[in-house]
Amino acid sequence: MAKYLAVIGKTEYLKLYGRKIGIWELLEYQPSGWLCSLAFKQSLIPNALILWDCGAYSYRYLDIPKLRGNLATPKWAIHEYKERSRIGDIIVAPDSLLLGNNINQRRRFNYESAARFIEFTAELEGRLLMAVVHGLTVEERLERGIELYNLGYKALGIGGLVPEASNKRRNIHIIQTVVEELQKLPSKIWIHIFGLSAPAYAKAFHQLGVTSFDGASHFKEAFSAGSFFLASGEKLIKHKAVKPGEIPTAHLCNCLCCLTLRKAGIDTRRYGSNQNNKGRAIHNLNQLIIAQQNAISHKNCQP
Ligand SMILES: [Zn+2]
Repeated sequence: MAKYLAVIGKTEYLKLYGRKIGIWELLEYQPSGWLCSLAFKQSLIPNALILWDCGAYSYRYLDIPKLRGNLATPKWAIHEYKERSRIGDIIVAPDSLLLGNNINQRRRFNYESAARFIEFTAELEGRLLMAVVHGLTVEERLERGIELYNLGYKALGIGGLVPEASNKRRNIHIIQTVVEELQKLPSKIWIHIFGLSAPAYAKAFHQLGVTSFDGASHFKEAFSAGSFFLASGEKLIKHKAVKPGEIPTAHLCNCLCCLTLRKAGIDTRRYGSNQNNKGRAIHNLNQLIIAQQNAISHKNCQP
């Protein structure tokens, strides 16, 4: 089954009764692991598989990748991963999205970074090294995939698909083409898809034999748009959080997060405190995982 890695970004806990509760403690079902970005310093980390990401999405508009005041070089990333990762985790070579006017410079950065990263990792035993495949065309992605494999990577991520996330047909076509080629390589490799986690994607990834994928859009939308999702089979029905005094359109939810917060007088369907918003985000993650599982188990339906 394709593994969903939930994302730990700015928010890794919710404070309740004076205690920091990890967001994983409020989930009905645990994801297969988590993606943690070097863009943030997490104070709590779940005891699970972690894919450590260099944070390329955070510095996507910079031609020279920088994070928290540091140049995001392979050496710097290794230093960070050494401090934070554990044996069994996955670590990603710094990469750059192909955006803006300096595409060739970004392409060069990606190649050189992947080549140097793999040389520096001798001191980090037991981690799975991942490099990210970028390209403006399917052909370019195929070339990059083979190139990174030849550098010695046994795990490859496919990136740069988030801007067209709503165009599922296009993205799934690209992913299918690249994944089928990568699956023909002599050694079996771990294939990860960055940033796409809607149930329809989960279903397609499962069918294609993708190893893992991540995504935080449903979680983030709780903050950015007040979205409150409810799983209905393999679909997510979107409601909007309401202001104090208004009547919520969504029915009461009894997921572990909503139930726990309701006992503390916090309704995740409403705006209010930071706890309302964080609770709604965790609730959305609960609903997403339920809808993904429904989508994957209905194998006969079309994506
Ligand atoms: Zn809920």
